[in-house]
Amino acid sequence: MTRIPLPLTQFVVKMHSRCDLACDHCYVYEHADTSWRGRPKVIGEEILAKAAERIGDHAAAHRLSAVRVVLHGGEPLLAGPERLRRAAEFLRSALPSGCALDLRIHTNGVLLSREFCALFDELGIKVGVSLDGDRAANDRHRRYADGRSSHPQVLRAVALLREPAHRHLFAGLLCTIDVENDPAAVYHALAELQPPAVDFLLPHATWDDPPKRPAGQGENPYADWLLTVYERWEADGRPFAVRTFESVHRTLRGLSSLTESLGLEPSDLVVLETDGTFEQADSLKTAFDGAPATGLDVFRHSLDEVARHPGIGVRQAGLAGLSAVCRACPVVRSCGGGLYAHRYRGDDEGGGFDNPSVYCGDLMTLINGIADRGNPVGRPVPAQAAEPVVPTALTDRQLDELARGHGGADTVRALARSQLALTRAMLAAAWGASGQRRSAAWDLLSALDRTAPAALDAVLGHPYARAWAARRLAGDLGAGLGPLAALAAAAAVRAGRGDTLAVTVRGGVLHLPTLGSLAVPDGETVVTGSAGGFRVRTADGELITGTDPRWQPVRRVRLAGGWTVALEDLDPQRDSHDHPVEGRLSDTELLDWTGALREAWELLGHDLPGYAEGVRAGLTTVTPLRPGPPGRDVSAAARQAFGAVGIARPATAPILGLLLAHEFQHVKLGAVLDLLDLYDPADTALYFAPWRPDPRPLEGLLQGTYAHLAVTEFWGTRSLAYDGLPGEAADRARTRFALWRQYTAEAVDRLAGSGSLTPLGLRFTDGMRATVAPWLAVPLPAAAERAAGRARQERSPVGG
Ligand code: SF4
Repeated sequence: MTRIPLPLTQFVVKMHSRCDLACDHCYVYEHADTSWRGRPKVIGEEILAKAAERIGDHAAAHRLSAVRVVLHGGEPLLAGPERLRRAAEFLRSALPSGCALDLRIHTNGVLLSREFCALFDELGIKVGVSLDGDRAANDRHRRYADGRSSHPQVLRAVALLREPAHRHLFAGLLCTIDVENDPAAVYHALAELQPPAVDFLLPHATWDDPPKRPAGQGENPYADWLLTVYERWEADGRPFAVRTFESVHRTLRGLSSLTESLGLEPSDLVVLETDGTFEQADSLKTAFDGAPATGLDVFRHSLDEVARHPGIGVRQAGLAGLSAVCRACPVVRSCGGGLYAHRYRGDDEGGGFDNPSVYCGDLMTLINGIADRGNPVGRPVPAQAAEPVVPTALTDRQLDELARGHGGADTVRALARSQLALTRAMLAAAWGASGQRRSAAWDLLSALDRTAPAALDAVLGHPYARAWAARRLAGDLGAGLGPLAALAAAAAVRAGRGDTLAVTVRGGVLHLPTLGSLAVPDGETVVTGSAGGFRVRTADGELITGTDPRWQPVRRVRLAGGWTVALEDLDPQRDSHDHPVEGRLSDTELLDWTGALREAWELLGHDLPGYAEGVRAGLTTVTPLRPGPPGRDVSAAARQAFGAVGIARPATAPILGLLLAHEFQHVKLGAVLDLLDLYDPADTALYFAPWRPDPRPLEGLLQGTYAHLAVTEFWGTRSLAYDGLPGEAADRARTRFALWRQYTAEAVDRLAGSGSLTPLGLRFTDGMRATVAPWLAVPLPAAAERAAGRARQERSPVGG
C-alpha cells in the first residue's frame, strides 16, 4: 500500500558543523558517521534562504499552524550573530500567515553572551543548554580539546538565562546520562538552576556498539539511574518538565508521547546540514557511516519529497514499523521500541533496525517502575477502568465547537466521560500508592463496578469524588483512606444490594457523597445499603435509618426543562475552589438560591443560547461560597472538580447567570486540557491579560480568555436586546460589551502570538477568534466606547 507521508513540522538546521568543545560522548564527531568532515563549517546564506522557502511552501501546502525550527550544530553560536539573525529573518518572512514559528537554539553555552541574549530576545529564539549535572558529572565528558573543564562557562550561560530580562528565553537543559555519575547529585545540580525543563538523554548506542554497563550496577543501570532521578523529581513536586517521565505518564494513560525516543507517534522531523543536504534524525549518526543520509538536498528537493523518503517513512509507521519482539511487548505503547537509532544491529545476526532497542531492558524497567510508583496503570483498578484509562477522545467537530467557546450536550458529555475515567484512574493511583494490599472499601468499589456500575458512576461522577485522590497524589496523606470508604459506602447505598461497609468517622460527621450527612460519634460506623433504604450503626451502637430527622440530605434545585443541580453545602471535600465555602444553608437561604438559580437559568437560555445546552449537560453542582468584599462578585471553578462551580450568590439573577456561564467555561477548558496539549508546558513566561494588572502563566491567560468569550457574548446579546433604548441598564450593558469584546480580542491575539501554542492550541485559538470577531463589528454608540475606555484606564472590574 502506498504510504501517505505526514507533513514535516520539525526542522533541525545545522548552523555550524564544528564545535568549540570536544565532548567524548558526542554523536556528531565521536560516533560511526564521519560525514561532518566534508561539510562546510558554516551554513551558507543561500542555503538558509532556500530552506526557509521550502519550509514556508511546505507549511502553506499542508496548512500547518506551527512549525518548530531548532538551530543546531556542532555549536550553533560559532555561526555568529549575523548568520543566526539571517536564519531567523528568512524563516519569519517565508512562513505563511497563520503558521507560527517556534524557533530554538541548542548550545553548549560556552559562547553565550549578553549580546547573544539580546539578539535572541529580538528574534524570539529560545535557548536550550547542554549540561550533564554537577561539575564532576559534566567534566566526565564535556571538556575542551585540551582537557579543561567547560563547567564554569556553562554555569555562567545558565546564570545569564536566569536573569529576569532573559528568563523567558530559557527553554531548558539537556543532560546526557552517564550511569557512573551519581543520579541524585546530577538531579540536585540541575534542579538548583531552576530550569523550566530538563531532557535526560540516553547516550547513543547500538547493538554493535552497546552502552557501557559498569560491573556491579545491575542489569538495567540506565533505568535504575532514571528512577532515582524520578523519585526525587516526584518528591520535589515535579519542579520542572521532564519529557521522558511525562511521556511515560501520558502513554500509560493512552495519550501521546512528548519525545521521539518513546511512544508510537510518527516522526515528523528532518535535519538540514550545512551543505544543504537533508538528513534523517541526527541520532542515526551513531549507527553506521552515512546512516542518516537521504540523498536529497534543499535546492533540488521539496520537503514533500523528503517526507516520502523510506527512512523517514519507517519512523512514521507506528506499531507496524517495529520488530516482532516489540510488537508483542506489553509496554510497547509507552516504549515504542525506543529511539530508532538505538535498534541498529549490523553484525552477523543483523536485522538492521528491525530489532528492539539496545536499551530494551532499561526501557521496560523504567516504564514499569514509573507505573509501579503510582501511575494509574499497573495499579489495582476497578474492573471497568482496567481498560484504557482515558478512552474518550473528542471528535474534530466537538473540538471545534469547544474552540468556539460553545459545546453542545454530546460534546460536554464526552468531556464528562473522560473526566469520569480520569477520576477512576486517580482513585486507583491514590489507593495503589497507599501501599495496602487489601481493604474492604476497595473490594466493595471493585465489586460494585462489576455488579452496579451505574450506582458507582453516579458517585464517581460527583465533582468532589476526586478531591481526596488529588490531594494524596500531591503528597498530602493527612486524610487517610476515610474518603475512599465514604465513596464506596455511598455507592453501596445507591446500589441497594445489602452491602455493608465500616467507615471510620472523624470530626463527628458521616458524609456519604451525593447523598448527605449524618452527625454521629467518631469511630467505626457501619453503613448498610439495601433496597428499602439505608441504615447506619454508629460507633456507640445506635441504629439510625435514612428516614431519621438527623439525616441531612444533599438538596437539589429543579430547573426549567426538568433537570436538577445540587446545591452542595455538606461535602467536606467541596473546599476545592480556593475560596471559603458556606456552611449548611438555612431554609431561607435555600429558597433564595432556588429562586435565583431558576431565574438565572431562564436568562441563560435567552442570553447565551450557545452555552446553555452545554451547561445543562455538564453542570451538576453549585457550591455556595462565602461573599467577597462589598461590590465584588465571587465565583470559582476547580480543575479537580468537573461539573461544579463555586459561587457567592450575587445581587441579581442575570449576574448569577453570567457567573454560571463564566465558570462553566473554566470547567470545560480544564477537561479539554486534561485531554489535549494546547500549549508548551515548558513555557514559564508570564503574560498580561488585558483585564488584570498582574501577569500570569500562559494557561491562566488561556483560561481567562476562554471564560471571557462567554462574558463578551453575554453583554453583546444584552446590548442588542436593548436595541437603542435609553436607560442606565442599557448603557451599562453597552459599556461592558464594548470593554469585554476588546479585552477578549486582544487576549486571543496575545495567546496566538505567544509562540508557545501547539498546533492544536493554535486551532483552538482560531476558534475563539472566530467567535469574537463578529462581535467586534457590532456598532456601538461612541459614548459606550468612551465609557469602556475610561473603565479600562481605571481597570475597573466591570462585570467580568
Ligand atoms: S521494551 Fe523492548 S521489546 Fe518492549 S517495545 Fe521497548 S524495545 Fe521493544
